[in-house]
Amino acid sequence: GVAFLDGQYLPMSQAKISVLDWGFLHSDATYDTVHVWNGRFFRLDLHLDRFFAGLEKLRMTIPFDREGVSEILHNCVALSGHRAAYVEMLCTRGASPTFSRDPSQAVNRFMAFAVPFGSVANAEQLRRGLRVAISDKVRIPPASIDPAIKNYHWLDLVRGLYDAYDRGAETALILDFNGNVAEGPGFNVFCVKAGKLSTPAIGVLPGITRRTVFDLCAEQGLAATAADVSVAALREADEVFITSTAGGIMPVTEIDGARIADGKVGPVTSRLMALYWEKHDDPAWS
Ligand code: PMP
Repeated sequence: GVAFLDGQYLPMSQAKISVLDWGFLHSDATYDTVHVWNGRFFRLDLHLDRFFAGLEKLRMTIPFDREGVSEILHNCVALSGHRAAYVEMLCTRGASPTFSRDPSQAVNRFMAFAVPFGSVANAEQLRRGLRVAISDKVRIPPASIDPAIKNYHWLDLVRGLYDAYDRGAETALILDFNGNVAEGPGFNVFCVKAGKLSTPAIGVLPGITRRTVFDLCAEQGLAATAADVSVAALREADEVFITSTAGGIMPVTEIDGARIADGKVGPVTSRLMALYWEKHDDPAWS
């Protein structure tokens, strides 16, 4: 992979930052990841919108505008030579030259990189559906600070993931403050009941793949809402799937060892998965 750091393009192995950077010390950073498939970016504008909104809310400044960042991302992909890549843009608070605790003294640091695409789910999991466990861990900030700020804080998600592994599952879903389902390590969740889709509304990152599912539903005339999803509703759903940039739409066929419906990838999920990948070749969705 190739990184852009401090004005230079570098091999990933040479892209290094100080341990005094507040991104490392305090998770004081925001980022966004975007997916390249067949050499083309998917929904880059939406990712740039979210990244720049996060920068503004965190009062960080970078020496590039949207076009500048877009150009850097394209250059990272081109230099990496990858046709399928996972591309990240990020900004940390940086480090303060005087070791001051005043965030306005720190010099914000923008970085970007493109690495070979590594999906959340492998081909077999996409065919048979993921086995998920619901952990009792609760998703806390950044969602409660501002859900739209994409931040690296994952302690709750990582603990949920270990709960899932301990129980023989492949990934985890964790809860919101009210005990409803929130999200998982790097993905949002949807369930389908009687042809209607729902996804948790509060305490979750408003994922761009989640947004794409809403757009696909609008196009296809499917009903979709963002509302509380209880653990019981998820278990009793006809279909469940998870969504993320690093995996697209991924079926879930087992929760806590019990099958969802007949345990097969359902028709709504299959149809949305196919459409999701078709849209990658449609310039209107690029
Ligand atoms: N929730 C969390 C906590 C995430 O980290 C991510 C992706 N990084 C998502 C949801 C999915 O968002 P997107 O579809 O924009 O990748």
